[in-house]
Amino acid sequence: MTLGTESTMPGGAPAIIELLRTGEPVFSFEFFPPKSAKAEQVLWTAIRELESLQPSFVSVTYGAGGSNRSMTVETTDRIATETTLLPMAHCTAVDHSVSELRNLIGHFASGGVRNILALRGDPPGDPQADWVAHPDGVNHAYELVELIKSSGDFCVGVAAFPEKHPRSPDWETCTRHFIDKCRAGADFAITQFFFDWRDWVRLRDATAAAGLDTPVIPGVMPVTSVKQIETFAKLSGAVFPAALAERLHAVADDPVAIRAIGVEVATTLSEKLLAEGAPGIHFITLNKSTATREVWRNLRVPARMSG
Ligand code: FAD
Repeated sequence: MTLGTESTMPGGAPAIIELLRTGEPVFSFEFFPPKSAKAEQVLWTAIRELESLQPSFVSVTYGAGGSNRSMTVETTDRIATETTLLPMAHCTAVDHSVSELRNLIGHFASGGVRNILALRGDPPGDPQADWVAHPDGVNHAYELVELIKSSGDFCVGVAAFPEKHPRSPDWETCTRHFIDKCRAGADFAITQFFFDWRDWVRLRDATAAAGLDTPVIPGVMPVTSVKQIETFAKLSGAVFPAALAERLHAVADDPVAIRAIGVEVATTLSEKLLAEGAPGIHFITLNKSTATREVWRNLRVPARMSG
């Protein structure tokens, strides 16, 4: 792992932007908060198995509400204190007043977590329902970026949408809002998952054309279940390519064959993105380690990072 001493922020945690500035590709893993004791065990098995790969950082998504949220915070804290991994906290504006957000940001800081992904989030229950801001909260992610930046020495990431956000009327409007979010102080961005590398290139070029050098890390999800990917694609607005759907449906009852296709597709996409100059890859692991480890091995990441 490339953790130079100059990248250390007050509090001891390296800033992701400094890792990105080394020019070495940054590889990271995303987890989601477990909903049961059994799911927690599965998650920690994946975390321990992936820890040995020494990713640049890992992150835990912020739950929609209630115990799910405390599990996000607990898991992020535990990664910070019990593992050798660098955690990035996801933080959303959903149902939070500004003072609650300040408390949450302060909690992360006191646990040494200095890298935060600032997100608006979606309405709990039905993610496609109308967005309603908390009366004392914020309405858009750029405001959360400003809040976190004004709260201390944080390195702040934001979400990016290579194919456009499902709520945006068109790609140009979506990209304009993304660029405004970068101008509000975001240090880097991580994208929604997607399947066509050209979508990332188009967003990267638009960002550069706006005069920004904000690194945009592509989010890559190795497919391990047809049903799951179809649901996610529907919610995120990502185009699920018909040819890939056809290949997966042909082996729908064979989880090993599905994973093999998912690994192949994620490897090819990651290789192309890195060749096009992507600053790294953020793997959406779905709390399982096998597919991600296989893509990692195919990409020969350890050789790349030590060499
Ligand atoms: P915003 O940037 O506020 O954008 C939301 C919508 O408003 C977009 O359509 C945008 O174009 C538009 N918009 C932005 N600024 C303006 C403006 N000034 N005026 C008018 N319109 C504007 N969700 C979770 O609940 N928990 C997570 O942990 C989580 N992690 C994620 C990680 C990644 C890498 C990504 C890509 C998404 C993640 N999400 C998560 C989902 C995300 O919260 C949703 O996609 C949400 O709908 C958008 O969040 P945002 O931060 O992009 O919001």
